[in-house]
Amino acid sequence: MSVGLRVRKNDQVVVIAGRDRGKRGKVLRIFPTRNRAIVERINMIKRHTRPNPQQNIKGGLVEREASIEASNLMIVCGECDRPTRLRHKRLNDGRKVRICHQCEGVIDK
Ligand SMILES: [Zn+2]
Repeated sequence: MSVGLRVRKNDQVVVIAGRDRGKRGKVLRIFPTRNRAIVERINMIKRHTRPNPQQNIKGGLVEREASIEASNLMIVCGECDRPTRLRHKRLNDGRKVRICHQCEGVIDK
């Protein structure tokens, strides 16, 4: 079975390797089978597009995010504001959440 992605949609992450190292953003989309994710304003690429008046798309160069290896990302804890590894915890109400390895703040609100 797959090991699963470390990141989930809407996670706050920091890039730990590659061209955008040190930048932060929000996870917009994940591709679990490919172990990749798209992160807001990270790994921007320029693309030529054709105009499409019906969809109100102007032609020309458009910047958009390209996917990035999920292993190049690390989750940023919203509580202590540091990149962190995660632990899992079961709350009193039975909910399973991910918590910060360092400050034990709950990542999943
Ligand atoms: Zn923390």
